[in-house]
Amino acid sequence: MNTFQDLGLNDDLLRAITDIGFITPSDVQAKAIPILLEQDTDLVALAQTGTGKTAAFGFPMLQKINIESRTTQGLILSPTRELCLQITNELKNYGKYCKGFNVAAIYGGASISEQAREVKRGAQIIVATPGRMKDMINRNMVDISKIEYAVLDEADEMLNMGFYEDITDILSHSPKDKNTWLFSATMPKEVSNIAKKFMNSPVEITVGNKNESTSQVSHEYYLVNSRDRYQALKRLADAHPDIFSVIFCRTKRDTQKVAEQLIEDGYSAGALHGDLSQNQRDMVMNSFRKNQIQMLVATDVAARGIDVDNITHVINYQLPDEIETYTHRSGRTGRAGKTGVSMVIVSKSELRKIKTIERIINKSFVKKDIPDGMEICEVQLMSLANKIHKTEINPEIEKYLTSINELFENTSKDELIKKFFSVEFTRFFNYYNKTKNLSVPESRGSDSDSGRDFDRGFSSNGDSSRFFINVGKKDGYDWMSLKDFLKEILELGRDDVFKVDVKDSFSFFNTEKGLQEKVLAFFNDYKHNGRFVNVEVSQDQGAGTSRNKRRSGGGGRRSDGDFKPRRSGGDFKSSGRRSSDVSRPRRSGDSSGPNRRERRSGLAEKSGEASFSRPRQSRR
Ligand code: AMP
Repeated sequence: MNTFQDLGLNDDLLRAITDIGFITPSDVQAKAIPILLEQDTDLVALAQTGTGKTAAFGFPMLQKINIESRTTQGLILSPTRELCLQITNELKNYGKYCKGFNVAAIYGGASISEQAREVKRGAQIIVATPGRMKDMINRNMVDISKIEYAVLDEADEMLNMGFYEDITDILSHSPKDKNTWLFSATMPKEVSNIAKKFMNSPVEITVGNKNESTSQVSHEYYLVNSRDRYQALKRLADAHPDIFSVIFCRTKRDTQKVAEQLIEDGYSAGALHGDLSQNQRDMVMNSFRKNQIQMLVATDVAARGIDVDNITHVINYQLPDEIETYTHRSGRTGRAGKTGVSMVIVSKSELRKIKTIERIINKSFVKKDIPDGMEICEVQLMSLANKIHKTEINPEIEKYLTSINELFENTSKDELIKKFFSVEFTRFFNYYNKTKNLSVPESRGSDSDSGRDFDRGFSSNGDSSRFFINVGKKDGYDWMSLKDFLKEILELGRDDVFKVDVKDSFSFFNTEKGLQEKVLAFFNDYKHNGRFVNVEVSQDQGAGTSRNKRRSGGGGRRSDGDFKPRRSGGDFKSSGRRSSDVSRPRRSGDSSGPNRRERRSGLAEKSGEASFSRPRQSRR
């Protein structure tokens, strides 16, 4: 079936499709629409985000409901407010010629009474997030007792986010004989359980393989020392001047920190995480949608439902704890028929995760090297040359030409070109000249510290602290991988963790005494792979058996990443940056650059130094 006409859609919908500009049905549409139109059936569809699944369930639902009735007949549950609004808008577009069609969006963080009014106006379809939906059912503000169709969109995400109870509660208020259509990017056990429990012999369709990532996305990994992670990120950005990306961090704290640092360093970046207010998140997302932010640094939860189609790169600044989450991350790029790249910055201790991901997504990663300084200079120079080549001449420049020509009377074209490009090239050249190579060979090498352990720590006695940690061989660590893990999460240098002694279910390690508070504070609330990691100072300086009961400051357990965001202008600068890496090159003659307030308040539109590498043409 090559056209929408072939799928059996009615004229009102086909007219809307022509207006929207869809020419050919996507895979999931070609598979799902005829089934849903022809049969009263339950359906399980495995499809990534960005494959056109909104239309796959939206068109059949619109065609099947009775527009003349004002009863709610269809319910679509989606994990996030962003996705809920996106689906609602799409349905409005699809149903623009269906006279009398009403759709209501129900989600948290907005007026509940206004939403109740929308429903009362006669919404035949409700698009909702589970929490607010449940709330409104309990308050008798919506009635779903007559719905004929229920969609669970991004079911795996909803379950990940802990909506299982809400979903079962909501569905218990709906008729048993309705049709349920479940869409999910992956098929973990929880989703198949839901399918078994709530659905009746569903037809199953799969777009691509189960759990396979979209074929439009290529996957690359970059092996670096963990302390170079941030520098590696900057180089990746500099090597792709037109990058439009989502950068994933594991925690809210890291997300905020990386975004602040990028902004500080002159990049067009913004943070998106759960500690921001809804208003702040909306502002960041608006700027991102308008291409005013090139690098959106986000947590997995906050990035759910990002409805931007033209993301060129996803960068995994850190890999997710749950490997399956990688599929969702990489699915943010390569949408709507475009290609995309998913990059992973890894340290040695995480290399084995790459293999696991390859198995899950059924695709191979390409190992790439972080570009060196001179490669970046070349990319930047050529990007500028191309930009100039394409630039339309502004007629206003005419009136200044006489003086400019006078100035360059004795300069040849060749010389002029060299001088012109040197203005910007020198800036990058000076910055990157003599910077070190950040890539690390895959074989074990410089990161090993076996000999050094004995030179430090024990012999220096009072100068180091020994810690007990409740992870060990049972958790899959040996001394080397545990050391890498510690260095990475604590953002420490190569020699900062030593005398790592791994036992079955616990281990010991040393740091300089000066790092003791930092280590204890970090582990006060740290969770890894769903488990709290307990670190205490050990009294034993060598044998590694007894342990002191002292723990750092009290406070209840918090979940991983549950940190307050730093305020803008926070103190990230003090967190161990190297002088050679302080910031990206500034425009020559602009030693101060735009002041911090200007840069922060504008989020993206900054004067001065960003212009060389950040052409702001719209990509839409
Ligand atoms: P979705 O997976 O529903 O979020 O859709 C992803 C993007 O693809 C949205 O921007 C849709 O507007 C677009 N899209 C959906 N179906 C088609 C189609 N048949 N042709 C072109 N674009 C489409």
